[in-house]
This record gives sequence, structure tokens and C-alpha cells, in this order.
Amino acid sequence: VATGTKWVLGNWKMNGRLASNQALLAALLTDAQVNVAHVGLAVPTVYMAQVAQTLSGQPMAWGGQAVSRFAADGAYTGEVNAAMLADLGASFTLVGHSERRQYFAESDEVLSAQIRHAREAGLLPVVCVGEGLAAREAGEHEAVVAAQIDGVIAALQGSERVVVAYEPVWAIGTGLTASLGQIVAMHEKIRACLLEKLASSCTILVLYGGSVKADNAADILALSEVDGVLVGGASLVAEQFSKVCYGA
Ligand code: PEP
Repeated sequence: VATGTKWVLGNWKMNGRLASNQALLAALLTDAQVNVAHVGLAVPTVYMAQVAQTLSGQPMAWGGQAVSRFAADGAYTGEVNAAMLADLGASFTLVGHSERRQYFAESDEVLSAQIRHAREAGLLPVVCVGEGLAAREAGEHEAVVAAQIDGVIAALQGSERVVVAYEPVWAIGTGLTASLGQIVAMHEKIRACLLEKLASSCTILVLYGGSVKADNAADILALSEVDGVLVGGASLVAEQFSKVCYGA
């Protein structure tokens, strides 16, 4: 994914079939404001070969939704390592999406291993952080997110570019979006945390995710504290995703 303008990353999650993927990709590829180097798709592993082939030679990027905590090939049944994604042409992978943290109990230790392996394989880790509703209501959201960053900061040391996606769990797939004020405040906090702990030469990008759609993307992307968006549900619908990209 190229820098220069705001990023739009789609996250297909566990959705898609060969035919619907092909139709979606075909629609996105023909749109000159979508098929650009600052737009990327995080796709299910099983469809990576299809996406790699379809996007071959195109500016639009693609990546994974997670990678194995194990780097080396070997006896890890069911796992897919970062080197395999890189082999197919992935340029990034999500790490620590709240659904991975919640349903697969991915700890800071596991996420740190994923980040290290992604980097070793030449993939950019896009590290997802975000508080749940209880933490937000208790006013502990900044502490929760700071702890999530602290938990993986060692694995990010030495990166030229660090990308963090702030995704409040209560806004993912719920139709609730954080207010612009909440987004600005948390993005400032995240940037300050990273600036404090990373080398000054490191480029920091902070993306927002959580029910980003055609009708709210432009306002969110217009915020100077927001370097891009991570889009779940709306990335499965070509017109929705295109409109999000028009705001970038
Ligand atoms: C996501 O999965 O990262 C996400 C933000 O989902 P949605 O846009 O559907 O809320």
C-alpha cells in the first residue's frame, strides 16, 4: 500500500465465494478512484490466489487478515504463515483485529510473534487496537488502547512505517460510529504513544475503523488526525466501497 494520500483498507472477514469475489473485484478494478495504490483488500486466505491473480499488475493492494504465530514451515496443521502470503504477493496483513482477540484469544505475545513474522516476510503489519463498550463507558478507553500498544511495541521497534488501526469494538459491525471528536482524541493519543516509544524516523499512520460507510467516510477521512480507514461490511459492496474511496 503506497503512502501519499489517505488509505482505504477493506476487510472481507469470512465472506465471499469465487463468483461473488470476481464480480466485486471486476467492479472495483474498473473504477479509477478505487484501483489505486492506497487502497487495499484484506481477503480470506482461501481466496488469496484468486485475488492475487485478478489484481496482478494492478495498483490496488491486497493482504491477509491474520498470519500464523509460527514463522517456519512445518507441523502446524491448519496454519498459514507470513512467508506464504508474501509468496502469493500480499503486501500487508491485519494483526490483532478485535475478532481475533475475542474469538481466538490472541494475546499480546501471539500478536507480537505475528508482527515479527510479517515483518520478516516483508509484509506490513496493520495493527488493530480498540476498546470495548464497558471500557469506553468506564472512561478507560485510552488506558486500554495504550496497553494494547504497549503489548506489541517491542515487535514494532525498528520499523520504517507503523500502521495502527483504531477500531472501537462497540463500533464494529454495529452501525455505531465513534463521533468525530472521539476519533480525533483517540488518534492523537495513539500517535503520542507511538511517537514516545518509536524512533523519530518512523512514519506513523493511524487508521479508523468501525462502521465506516459511504455516507460517513468523507467526514472521517477529512480529519487531519486520520490517515485512512479500515472498512468491514461496506467493503463487500462495490458501490459502498467505491464511495468510501472517493473520500480518500
Ligand atoms: C472491521 O472489520 O475492521 C470493521 C471496521 O468492520 P465494519 O466496518 O463492518 O464495522
